[in-house]
Amino acid sequence: MSDVKRGREFLHTPGPTNIPDRILNAMHQPAVDFTALPFVEMTRSCFEDIKHVFQTQGPVFMYAANGHGAWEAAMSNTLSPGDHILVPETGNFSMKWGMMAESLDLVIEHLPGDWRHGIDPDAVEQHLRDDDEGRIKAVLMVHVDTASGVISSVQAIRRAMDNAKHGALFMVDTIASLATVEFQMDDWGVDVALAASQKGLMCPPGIGFTACSDKAMHATQSARLPRNYWDWRERMTDAQYIRFCGTAPIHMLYGLREALDMLAEEGFAQVVARHHRLASAIRAAVDVWCSQGGMAYNALIPEQRSNSITAIRVPTGYNAEEVRTVARERYQVAMGGGLEQLKGDVFRIGHMGDLNEPMVLGALAGIEAALQYLDVPHGRGGVVAAIDYLTGT
Ligand SMILES: *Cc1c(COP(=O)(O)O)cnc(C)c1O
Repeated sequence: MSDVKRGREFLHTPGPTNIPDRILNAMHQPAVDFTALPFVEMTRSCFEDIKHVFQTQGPVFMYAANGHGAWEAAMSNTLSPGDHILVPETGNFSMKWGMMAESLDLVIEHLPGDWRHGIDPDAVEQHLRDDDEGRIKAVLMVHVDTASGVISSVQAIRRAMDNAKHGALFMVDTIASLATVEFQMDDWGVDVALAASQKGLMCPPGIGFTACSDKAMHATQSARLPRNYWDWRERMTDAQYIRFCGTAPIHMLYGLREALDMLAEEGFAQVVARHHRLASAIRAAVDVWCSQGGMAYNALIPEQRSNSITAIRVPTGYNAEEVRTVARERYQVAMGGGLEQLKGDVFRIGHMGDLNEPMVLGALAGIEAALQYLDVPHGRGGVVAAIDYLTGT
């Protein structure tokens, strides 16, 4: 096989995701004076329209940052040194967010999990009921944990907090769920929702978002964690240089404007339905691969398998990193690998953003070829099952 590769490499990493040509073209512009009116107007429209994506009336702040920046922004704006926070474990991303909290002088109360199940609302409720002194100031939930492929119910955790009559802030990491699955910040009672540009929003990495409820905006007045770049209070202005704490990420904003237009054209309900359809096609294939025993979904409960990313375990004695390497180098399908305790045990198919049926079928075919090439025990015919699903036959 020649080292020269032709055609497109299929990108199925769970972030970054495919950037549509429309967005790339929208970004292909000379730099502009970001304080001149046309650009100021465009920026204002982005701040307005991103609210629809979060389904919130409250303010959304944008940072020249990735998701980790949004994590820090959410906490540093609302909490004080020594505050306790509740961190239910769903996978590597919940763990890493918690570790960042610790480095900011927050005290973690951990709800252990096995990375194969969503958050147990009863455990959250019980833990909050036991906190009769109100030590816990925030609950940190990862909606779709991209490391495990598990989705947890935001509404169920909100109910658990309400049942416990607990006043903690409810923070939700929607980095891998925004614009892929339903999310309704205001109706679901979320206080801080955070996201990043390079997943469902189809943009390059480079913008981090925090969306804030009244309660979160209120908390920021008394929060004592040191902050400067992240400070919401500074950024509550139309003045371009101040709302971005420096130079605006001009080209990212051109891209975001196009992404918002594309999402609105398709319609949010349709975006969610498309992700559901394509994820279901992938699961139809994975069902077949797993039918021999050996291979298995990482997420044990079918309803907790997310429409954003699917994590698949290889049989004992096989190396998921090999599957990933062969899929990428030989069949040109790039996937995610297992993180931390899942390294070598799982490969992860990202299915967020700008995708359609033949892209998904092509990726499944490349992955199935890699399984066959490496002689990994699996049921054959996954791609056929995906076609059967998509055609309803
Ligand atoms: C990708 C991701 C992150 C990290 O985002 P970065 O932009 O890489 O910092 C955090 N949480 C979840 C759920 C993610 O999917």
